[in-house]
Amino acid sequence: MTELRKRKTSSLNQLAGIKIPAETKVSARGTTIRGAFVKAIIPVIPWTYAQVAEWEVRLRIDKNNVTCKYCGDKASELDHFFAVVKDKKPTGYVTDIYNLIPSCGKCNQSKGGKYWKDWMAGDAPNSPHTRNIADFGPRLETLDNYENWIANKVTIIPFSKFESDSLYTTYFEECESLIKTLETYQSKAVTLKNYIEKRISAEQENPQQISQQSTIVP
Ligand SMILES: [Zn+2]
Repeated sequence: MTELRKRKTSSLNQLAGIKIPAETKVSARGTTIRGAFVKAIIPVIPWTYAQVAEWEVRLRIDKNNVTCKYCGDKASELDHFFAVVKDKKPTGYVTDIYNLIPSCGKCNQSKGGKYWKDWMAGDAPNSPHTRNIADFGPRLETLDNYENWIANKVTIIPFSKFESDSLYTTYFEECESLIKTLETYQSKAVTLKNYIEKRISAEQENPQQISQQSTIVP
């Protein structure tokens, strides 16, 4: 029996107690692609210097030391305070100064599309509550006041009004058709993979045919 066959019949799903890597699928990125299609049409609303100055005051931003408004670490990015995408659809919130909060990468990733207050006080990995950050109460209060302040300022676009617009509907139909195309390539990938595995097995059954390059299987 060949090494490859021995390995297959042992049907190991782990090595050294660690799960082996999952098999990759060409079509595995459907959710990411749908998200990207939505994010790619989110508008950016221009802002003025006067708005920036007021935004800095409301968020208590120290221009010499810009920190994450959620946890206090050094800020490295601007988080969308209200998520722009939810359930693969635009929420109506966009890239608008009132919807941007200086954040660290840890908080931005941990928060994802969650409502800021639930996330801050929740048990998500790396949430401010989970990390037991200093000044939790005052930080929550600053952002609570900020949320009230932006209530009638933040831009919300009723995307549903574009749903009768063919430019809009075609765009999302084409996204679905792209994902279907990827699924057809997934079945082509399975066919090719089976072919490659068969070829390796066949070569191992007939070692005289094995070239130096074909010693893939350890
Ligand atoms: Zn943070």
